[in-house]
Amino acid sequence: MNGWSLTDTNFKESYQLKETLFSTANGYLGVRGSFEEDTIESEPSVRGIYINGFYESEEIVYGEKLYGFPDRSQSILNVIDTQKINLKINGEKFSLFSGEVLFYERTLNVKAGISTRSIHWKSPKGDEVKLIFKRMASFSQRELFLINCSIEALNFKGEIELISTINGDVSNIVATDDPRVGTANAQALSVVSLLSENNQSFIEAKTKYSNLKVVAGIAHQIPKIFSEKILNEDKQIVHFIKGTIQKGEILNFTKFAVYTDTNRHNNELQQNKSILKSVVANNFEYYADLQKKYLNDFWEFADVKIEGDEKMQQGLRFNLFHLVQSVGKDRWSNISAKGLSGEGYEGHYFWDTEIYIFPFFLFTNSDLAKNLLNYRYNILDFARKRARQMGHNIGALYPWRTIAGDECSPFFPAGTAQYHINVDIAYSIIQYYNVTDDMAFMVDKGLEMLIEIARLMYHIGHFRQSDGKFCIDSVTGPDEYTCIVNNNYYTNVLTKNLFVQFEAIWNEVSSLNSNKVNELVKKLEFKSQELKDFSSAGKAMFLPFDEKRKLHPQDDSFFNKKVWDFENTAKENYPLLLNYHPLTLYRHQVCKQADTILGHFLLENESSLEAIENDYNYYEKITTHDSSLSTCIFSIMANRIGEYDKAYDYFMNTARLDIDNLHHNTKDGIHTACMGGSWMSIVFGFAGMRVVNGALNFHPHLPEKWKSLQFKIKFKKRILECLLTTDGIQITLKKGTPLNVKIDDKILNIK
Ligand code: BGC
Repeated sequence: MNGWSLTDTNFKESYQLKETLFSTANGYLGVRGSFEEDTIESEPSVRGIYINGFYESEEIVYGEKLYGFPDRSQSILNVIDTQKINLKINGEKFSLFSGEVLFYERTLNVKAGISTRSIHWKSPKGDEVKLIFKRMASFSQRELFLINCSIEALNFKGEIELISTINGDVSNIVATDDPRVGTANAQALSVVSLLSENNQSFIEAKTKYSNLKVVAGIAHQIPKIFSEKILNEDKQIVHFIKGTIQKGEILNFTKFAVYTDTNRHNNELQQNKSILKSVVANNFEYYADLQKKYLNDFWEFADVKIEGDEKMQQGLRFNLFHLVQSVGKDRWSNISAKGLSGEGYEGHYFWDTEIYIFPFFLFTNSDLAKNLLNYRYNILDFARKRARQMGHNIGALYPWRTIAGDECSPFFPAGTAQYHINVDIAYSIIQYYNVTDDMAFMVDKGLEMLIEIARLMYHIGHFRQSDGKFCIDSVTGPDEYTCIVNNNYYTNVLTKNLFVQFEAIWNEVSSLNSNKVNELVKKLEFKSQELKDFSSAGKAMFLPFDEKRKLHPQDDSFFNKKVWDFENTAKENYPLLLNYHPLTLYRHQVCKQADTILGHFLLENESSLEAIENDYNYYEKITTHDSSLSTCIFSIMANRIGEYDKAYDYFMNTARLDIDNLHHNTKDGIHTACMGGSWMSIVFGFAGMRVVNGALNFHPHLPEKWKSLQFKIKFKKRILECLLTTDGIQITLKKGTPLNVKIDDKILNIK
């Protein structure tokens, strides 16, 4: 084990889990870490390659369909397979499950951005080879996936054959009993054409309903003395690459695979051909160098150094690497709940992006953060359309889950009803503005989204007759075990934040950009009365609070419910969602994930520390953490209230959730929100960082086990390096002008 890589030496177990862990991606293209060669039946593979935002849409079949239910699903598609290379050594087919494996190691090096498999294999007849497979999804050329294979003949000379394919006969996982896995239609992609020219092969395939096309092209770099023959077979093209090897000789092969698709390329086939032509002019090392450069720049700001805890160090770097692998880098894509590593949750984008992942990019690489907001701007018209379907004559309602912009959640109580997605997006826009001062973004896109979101939230609320308080009824908060409630604390407090901040942002942006803002006012027919309405709703927002117990109920009815019988719930019954009807869960005080506690973390000043502490102690007892989005928030807030051992334990369950497969479903894909949450647990938890009134505050506490903790953040055109030791926190200004920060109760000027 080492902080920069993940290593596996056991190929016999948990094949699909490792396909996820060792997946390679670049934000556009994601390739599961399947073996190049055929696997055996007892180790079924989910061999997958995904393009971010490339999907098929199917009609959603309901037993009983009511007004406003979404019509169609969207599911990320497993596209044309280019991973496969079978090897024949002196006529014997290489397989880890035949002959003898004398050495096996697979590593994912997150500094190099390359996954490597090293094998010493003895064939059944006794020929020994050393094989090294290296693979990467290139960060410098988003369309490119590469496999490099070196073969060393250790004790023989003879014939080597590579049988390398490109295969359009691909499918997706079909829906299962687990709502977190599977699509409606397995075979969604149909092959349009197969084509080979100049030792390069291409397959064009298209979807039926989303009307998207994908083209994959392959080419090989092979030793000069080798021959290459090509055969078209139904939906696949096979390249037979043959030659001889001398004893002690090492031969090197590279397979180039290029993907183009309708959204990003005007002419998918022609552009594929020209990209393939240009990439084969270089070799694997060339792209490996560029990969390293890209990642050097990434780690320069993203790295978090934990001295004294190798396990956590490894978990954290693994997570941050998967985040940069998963995050969409163009306006068509965002970051899905499983990144590009698997098909769980159908490749959908959720609120996970804004509340759990966005902060990491915001403070380390704000261009990537901005792209995530650009994506939301790009689907604003879909959100407007959805608002109308939902009966709101004004504003925009963002989809709970989607790829291209339409709401895709068929189960509305824990889907569409989560209106908080709207204010989560607004929260991110406001954070983005506070941290980057990017006025141009606010003028061009940010303000428009804020207006549309605020309108919608105002429209769903009302001033209560009895006391004039602004209330929001019939929504679901983050906790999916409590649905369709009135005055969910989380939703209300985030909406209040939007209304209160809106006025100040509006004044600032419009005073400096009156012409553009006037245009926006005209376009949206935005009235000055609306500004007043938002402001009065913000002031009158109802935040449920039980004065006697000094606790915030999660919503109006929460404390009236029976507490779940945890004592008599068998361990095997978790996660509860797989073992109880939703109504059974809704009738009890039981939380799937942080809800009120998350509201406190995001908007700490809305509550006294005493109430936050009380709430923490109360909700901790009734939260199952069945969602991977939960423990990071409890870790952060445990730090906030001085429960340091708990903070560490919750962090452990966050930082290594995928590596250690703690939720037993990493085979379906990584948990990107939890990964983002591990960074948040460091920066907002152990360092206790918050942005308060435009300034940075810290409440640092280093876990006892650690010697030090170090990370960098970008804040208002500055770069700050933070070092936590047992003596406290030291903040160094690496770039930019001096600023004041608050550490516990002291204000320090950082020069
Ligand atoms: C959680 C949601 C989350 C979704 C995707 C669910 O289990 O409850 O909050 O958005 O997973 O990660």
